[in-house]
Amino acid sequence: MKCKRCRRAEAAVDLPSHHAAFCPDCFFVFFRRQVREGIRRYRLLAPGDRVLVCVSGGKDSLVLWDVLMEAGYKTEGLYIDLGIEGYSARSREKVAAFAAARGKTPIVVELAKEGIPIPEAARCIRMQECSICGTVKRYFFNKVAAEGGFSVVATGHNLDDEGARLLGNLLHWQRDHLARQHPFLPEAGTGLVRKVKPLWRITEMETAAYGFLKGIDYVTEECPMSLDATSLVYKEALSLIEDKMPGTRIVFYQGFLDASNPLRQATVEPMADDGEETGFGKGSAGGVPGACSSCGASTFAQVCSFCRLKERVREQRERRREKT
Ligand code: SF4
Ligand SMILES: [Zn+2]
Ligand SMILES: [Zn+2]
Repeated sequence: MKCKRCRRAEAAVDLPSHHAAFCPDCFFVFFRRQVREGIRRYRLLAPGDRVLVCVSGGKDSLVLWDVLMEAGYKTEGLYIDLGIEGYSARSREKVAAFAAARGKTPIVVELAKEGIPIPEAARCIRMQECSICGTVKRYFFNKVAAEGGFSVVATGHNLDDEGARLLGNLLHWQRDHLARQHPFLPEAGTGLVRKVKPLWRITEMETAAYGFLKGIDYVTEECPMSLDATSLVYKEALSLIEDKMPGTRIVFYQGFLDASNPLRQATVEPMADDGEETGFGKGSAGGVPGACSSCGASTFAQVCSFCRLKERVREQRERRREKT
């Protein structure tokens, strides 16, 4: 089959949802356009932004970093080492190699050094790894962004991720989560940095194809903690529908984002899309938070959610030690 764009080269990527098939060069053009359109539609990024790209070593985040660098944005990568045996070391290597090939050194946060490696923390306080991980990652996104003078944090969530999250939120009528699910979460005076998802129009298959065709070496294994994640079930369900009716996923998510959708609130609240966040900045109008008595981050509680979590882990660790 010939490429639908140049009509000369053989097509390498088939995109039924766009009624198109492209050769590698034309696919790159298509892909960059999709990212540009995603950024433009909700003004996710401005040319002067300093962008902190959160990279896990997986395809989506490395492709995001690559495409933003190529588009001329000032970017640095942040890698959070979750302390997962084997997997964390392998993904960290991929991030380091990717960055080195582009003359960069990623910023690395090691959760073991921070006293809260995810698997051990989850065992200690009998909580789901992913819930702890979410709180901890958001804490460091804000902290590193504030300390490094970044104006925005970008993550590699793609259309499959966002569609699956939307389906889950709808099935459980999580109204507060629905109100905050958006590719653009504005900054708040309390030190919460702006968060954006520039790949929201791009499917997982498209990032995989882009990564493969560009020779990006990423970690192919999933995080071992994700094995029973319910989001995978929602992803599968949407994939099933997408296979039968190509284009449904983008219509589903784009329709949700439409300002005329009554499910959307008039304003997007400056908060994480799935929970409490800790900011690093001085308080401002609209409620004046104090400083966390432990780490100094701005919070409305005496101690921020991250420090409370860390303290619970520390206490349980001590108790276990005493028992043995
Ligand atoms: S699957 Fe869970 S533990 Fe693994 S990176 Fe994602 S949120 Fe964190
Ligand atoms: Zn072509
Ligand atoms: Zn704190």
